[in-house]
Amino acid sequence: MKQTLAATALLFITQVASAATAQQVAPQSIIYVIGDGMGMEYITAYRHFVDDPATEEIEETLFDRYFVGTSATHPHGHELVTDSAAGATALSAAIKTYNGAIGVDIDKQPVETLLERAKTLGYSTAMVTTSQINHATPASFAAHIDSRQKYDEIADQYLDNRIAGKPWVDVLIGGGEKYFKREDRDLVAGFTALGYQYADSFALLDRIEAAPALALLADKGLPFAIDAPPANRLAVMTSKALALLPKNKPFFLLVEASEIDWCGHANDIACAMGEMHDAEQTLGVVSRYVSEHNNTVMVMTADHSTGGLSMGANGEYEWRASVVRGVKASAGELARELKEAGNTWPVKWQELTGITLSAEQQDTMAKQVKASVIANTEAEKNSAKTTLRSGILAAINTASATGWTTGGHTGGDVGVFAAGVNPEQFAGHQDNTAIALKLFTRLRPVQ
Ligand SMILES: [Zn+2]
Repeated sequence: MKQTLAATALLFITQVASAATAQQVAPQSIIYVIGDGMGMEYITAYRHFVDDPATEEIEETLFDRYFVGTSATHPHGHELVTDSAAGATALSAAIKTYNGAIGVDIDKQPVETLLERAKTLGYSTAMVTTSQINHATPASFAAHIDSRQKYDEIADQYLDNRIAGKPWVDVLIGGGEKYFKREDRDLVAGFTALGYQYADSFALLDRIEAAPALALLADKGLPFAIDAPPANRLAVMTSKALALLPKNKPFFLLVEASEIDWCGHANDIACAMGEMHDAEQTLGVVSRYVSEHNNTVMVMTADHSTGGLSMGANGEYEWRASVVRGVKASAGELARELKEAGNTWPVKWQELTGITLSAEQQDTMAKQVKASVIANTEAEKNSAKTTLRSGILAAINTASATGWTTGGHTGGDVGVFAAGVNPEQFAGHQDNTAIALKLFTRLRPVQ
């Protein structure tokens, strides 16, 4: 028995050693996917959202298939609830820092990120997001600054920070053109002068033929998946990045499903499920890539959860996914549509949500739509729109029995999903910094 154990241990050590040797010969490519705000409740809600009601069983999603463990998300200190900057810095640089910190420690000193280490070792690098590309999560991989609010400075750093005379990121695809084409500076011109191919719309993305490349497909974030086609925009952008990365070199690719969080902040369940659907499509693209290419690893996690989402609310032992499936636009878009419809708003409401309102709800919403229509000043318009949006969300949340506890983030553990080379390394419970540490150990110099 003792001998068998020893033999097993020896065999294990030999395997680890030979795996390490193999890695030394051929460094592995890393695809790191972050679902911003994608707490476990989103994973569960999404499973029911896409479930085929015609079958008895609840079908497995790709999240279920690749689930390996969980991660703690707390930032430095005792607040326990992280923001996306501290969360992403933990995931990029393996350190705990303060909320708002972009790639810096608690003393505001720059810390090396996975993307930077990979680039230093000779990898190609890429970032793909649905938010502006200089938003907190991607920024924490390729910039170093004391506050996430400094959007212009973060965009500047993408161009100005250099290695061997070139920017650290070879392929950037996301939103945020307004931060790159400014009165005081045209960063797009700076990138193209360095040989970056540029696209500023989805239609033109196909024209980009090779890295290095910059694509800024919206002024700020891209429209929500539920509001504007293509609904699988992150999956499309991720495929594009994978196609652009040179074939003869390992790469580090960061992908962020940014707007799950934004829908969560808005307490908009239909919007969130639209983003989750795009995140799953993206997971499909990435897991297919990993299964077709040796020596690649895919890790997906979230920086935190958002909104305090709950399936079931107000004492109801039920969550009605079918109601959520019937909602065809985000609350902001619904408010715009109802206002435009004016007196015929109930027809629009039925068409875009399928939700039957109680007499009382109908009365309230009629007043809110009317206030929206007759609003004169900018302030009146904004306030009427906010009220109508809240009314719409209340109706959807009640009808579906969806609960929310906050407009901010929450401190629970999040899921970890992995595939490719040794996904077991991410199994079980771990700290968010440990995910980054494990990825650091996989990086090897490119010969
Ligand atoms: Zn957030």
